[in-house]
Amino acid sequence: MTSYRVTLIPGDGIGPEVADATRRVLEATGIDFAWDLREAGETALARHGDVLPEETLASIRENGIGLKGPITTQLGVGFRSVNVGLRQALGLYANLRPGKTMPGVRSVFDQIDLVIVRENLEGAYSGIEFDTGTVEAAEIIAEINKRQGKPIAPDAALTIKVITPANSRQIVRYAFEYAKANRRRLVTAVHKANIMKFSDGLFLKIAREVAAEYPEIEFNDRIVDNMCMQLMQRAQDYDVLVMPNLYGDIVSDLVAGMVGGLGVAPSGNIGPDTAVFEPIHGSAPSHAGKNEANPTAMILSGALMLRHLGEQVAAERVEQAVGAIVAEGTQVTYDLRQDRDPSKATGTAEMADAIIARMAS
Ligand code: NAD
Repeated sequence: MTSYRVTLIPGDGIGPEVADATRRVLEATGIDFAWDLREAGETALARHGDVLPEETLASIRENGIGLKGPITTQLGVGFRSVNVGLRQALGLYANLRPGKTMPGVRSVFDQIDLVIVRENLEGAYSGIEFDTGTVEAAEIIAEINKRQGKPIAPDAALTIKVITPANSRQIVRYAFEYAKANRRRLVTAVHKANIMKFSDGLFLKIAREVAAEYPEIEFNDRIVDNMCMQLMQRAQDYDVLVMPNLYGDIVSDLVAGMVGGLGVAPSGNIGPDTAVFEPIHGSAPSHAGKNEANPTAMILSGALMLRHLGEQVAAERVEQAVGAIVAEGTQVTYDLRQDRDPSKATGTAEMADAIIARMAS
């Protein structure tokens, strides 16, 4: 039997509790996991003096796969962000964010089943910026003003948006491969190529080229503002959406809001050799250590990891059991109860037990 060695980072706050629930649910699929337990965040800072120790990165590199709980972000300066650090160190170019309505979860919309694939490394988030009033900004502005007819004010601040053919091809190809592996019918490229003719125009051109390699999957494209309106009016017409960084950041949160928010939203960060899966919610410190946090988002992140490993049947078993328990609404954490009565709520560990029992039935 295949055994998977996975780096497990429980994280901070409610992280250890939702990570433990997830580990138990994944083991109940019958798949063999060897968990390589590592630290990041506050626990790592206390022990290693670094929120993202090199040994944690080395473990993910070696195992090729990580499952991560939420990390408390240090507000003081001087500590790097674990999530940005992970993304950059491992070249995690794709952010995968499914948005699916679940019966039992309060949401404004119903019957939504979308997957957002966001480019994670470049676009408007290249990190190349020049502040107002700096010599560097003034020099670049002077140079640009020599070359085109719309003068930029000398005290402007600049952010460089970078779209490369290689990264565009990589992200769109990932979207199509995901669609193919998960039997999705349509990929939509989202852009603003009517205004940003060169940068977004390049993204769209590459998307069309890649689409031609996948004749079995439908392809279309939408301008990002129109996409947002259409998501409000007929989200059911869409399936997998692929887009540059900034649009992906905004649209994925829009979709998370459409389907009921944080407690149930999983994600994955995919690179050429490694992938890290995590819930999108934070460490919710006020709920930590009380066995009351909702483990659904991290369990569904575990199911996404199973899909990434090619274990589609096990992933479906987990998703169906979670869906059934959430829909029934009796063995769920406080936030998922229709009556919101904390005295009747099920604990984190007991909700995981209920999911495991459902998988066995
Ligand atoms: P948060 O997601 O931790 O909490 C927002 C709200 O949702 C709170 O009311 C919280 O109690 C509730 N909530 C979140 N997850 C829940 C769960 N699983 N079950 C029940 N209730 C849940 O966001 P925040 O309060 O803005 O951030 C707290 C800390 O987490 C900060 O340090 C922040 O930087 C960090 N954070 C980390 C990540 C990550 O590691 N990926 C993501 C977001 C925030």
